[in-house]
Amino acid sequence: MKQIAVISGKGGTGKTSVTAAFIQLAKSAVAVDCDVDASNLHLLISPITARKLPAPFISGYDAIVDKTRCISCGKCIPVCVFEAISRDDTDNKVKTNHLLCEGCGACVTVCHANAIKLINKQVGESYISNTRFGVMAHARLNAGEGSSGKLVSEIRKQASEIAKSEGIDFIILDGPPGTGCPVIATLTGTDLAVVVIEPSVSGIHDAKRVIALCRHFKVGVAALINKYDVNPSLSEAIEKFAARENIRLIGKIAYDRIFVESMKKRMTAVEFDKNSKAAISLVAAWEDVKKSLA
Ligand code: SF4
Ligand code: SF4
Repeated sequence: MKQIAVISGKGGTGKTSVTAAFIQLAKSAVAVDCDVDASNLHLLISPITARKLPAPFISGYDAIVDKTRCISCGKCIPVCVFEAISRDDTDNKVKTNHLLCEGCGACVTVCHANAIKLINKQVGESYISNTRFGVMAHARLNAGEGSSGKLVSEIRKQASEIAKSEGIDFIILDGPPGTGCPVIATLTGTDLAVVVIEPSVSGIHDAKRVIALCRHFKVGVAALINKYDVNPSLSEAIEKFAARENIRLIGKIAYDRIFVESMKKRMTAVEFDKNSKAAISLVAAWEDVKKSLA
């Protein structure tokens, strides 16, 4: 079983459209939407939730106040550097703001009335769903929560267990944009990162950063240029960069409205029109991915 992460240094490169096409073409893949902060793979492969995973995703702690014990001394308010504790005007006791609380426990230490305790924090939920291309692991991070890297690791673990138990050939991950914690959680342990690059100055700059990250984590890298004909000279610069850095170029996709049109119909570009230029390039790119993993 091989794991392939489709990533990009920035959003809007067509990464999710590429991922969805690869999931379809793989024929035997668990799909994973690792962009838990702003997921959109579901728009293309329409998961029907088979089951919400039994336990909500827990990460860190939340402070809660037992008002029957609170003596309104106010000692806890200044020790909270996150300004998560305030007076409750209704009874002059204190209350905590769960969006601000970081679960550090400082308030618990100063409260001699034992009125504050830390409880496990639910930061999101993860799901296993069925799609027309097979199983999908995905998640929803609660608003304001920042543990997306851990949530990515959790759904990847679920995907891996399913792939192993059902003898599935590939796990295909739709990675988040950027180079932050959820991207690192997406890359760790993958066999290949396909970096989707658009020929713009910022696109190249961000792609170089994410390629450096892949190298740091010793993940193999392949490059795929999307909308290469929008700026042929920058596309040529990407090709030269890839050759210089020994990065396999698995394809160049011409600008094609089909990405937008297929998304409107909730289809992959290959499903929408397999004879389109974009679909032909995607099929060739997937064949190249398989070759590079052989
Ligand atoms: S330190 Fe304890 S008793 Fe004092 S205000 Fe805070 S919660 Fe209430
Ligand atoms: S646990 Fe830390 S962050 Fe949360 S309310 Fe207490 S002092 Fe503030």
